[in-house]
Amino acid sequence: MTRSDSPSDTDLRGAVIGGCRALTDLGLTYGTSGNVSIRRDSSGFFVSPTGMAYDSLQPDDVPLVMLDGRWFGRRRPSSEWRFHRDIMAARAEAGAIVHAHSRHATALACTGRGIPAFHYMVAVAGGADIRCAPYHTFGTQELSDAALTALEGRKACLLAHHGIIAVGADLAAALKLAGEVESLAAQYCAALALGNVGLLDEAEMRRVVEKFRTYGRQEAADAGLRAAGELLPPAQA
Ligand code: 13P
Ligand code: ZN
Repeated sequence: MTRSDSPSDTDLRGAVIGGCRALTDLGLTYGTSGNVSIRRDSSGFFVSPTGMAYDSLQPDDVPLVMLDGRWFGRRRPSSEWRFHRDIMAARAEAGAIVHAHSRHATALACTGRGIPAFHYMVAVAGGADIRCAPYHTFGTQELSDAALTALEGRKACLLAHHGIIAVGADLAAALKLAGEVESLAAQYCAALALGNVGLLDEAEMRRVVEKFRTYGRQEAADAGLRAAGELLPPAQA
C-alpha cells in the first residue's frame, strides 16, 4: 500500500488484478491482451497497467485514471484507458469494464459481424443484438468513439479485428457478461457453419429483455405457479 492509499483503494487495485487473472483462467484472453477497470468514484477508476504479465502484478502496479485524463501511480495505465474513461464518463451505472480478445467473439469480429438475435440469450447484453464497432487502431480516440456508439443501449459490443468489451455494475457482472458473449459467439460460429441460421424478431427480443429484468429472482411472479410451503407432501402411489 502506498502512503496515500486507503484500504479500499488497495482492495480495488487487488480486484483489478483478480479480474485480469480471471480473464486468463476463464480462457477469455491470452497473455496481456485485454484489460480491466473498476470505478473508484464519480471522478476516476483503477485500470490494469499496460503490457504487464498478470501473474506478477502487485496492487501498487494498478494506476488510478481520472476522467479528466490525469493518472496516478508507478505504472502507466492500459493503452485502452480512453475507452475505459469514456465509458465510465458516459455510463453512470458502469462499475467495471472488461476488454478481452476471446477466441470466437474475435473471430466473428474479424469478419465484421456482430451477434444478431440468433439465440434469445443475446438479450443479456441489453437488446436485440450485440453490435460490432468498425475497426480503428488500438488505444485511439477513434476506437473509443466507435465503441461508445456500438454500446448505445447495450452492455457489450464487439470490436472489428480486435475483441470485445463488456460493462457491468461490478466486476463479477462484467466478467460474467464477457463469458456469455464469448459463449454466444461460439454458438453463432457453429450455427453459421451449419448454415440457414434463423433470427428471432424484434418483438420476441423485447419480450426476452423484459423477462430478464426478473429472471432468476426468487420473488419473481409466475401466473401458473403457487408457493405451497417448504414441507413436501407425501409421494403418491
Ligand atoms: P494493454 O496491455 O495496454 O492493456 O493492451 C492490451 C490490449 O488489449 C489493447 O487493445
Ligand atoms: Zn485489445
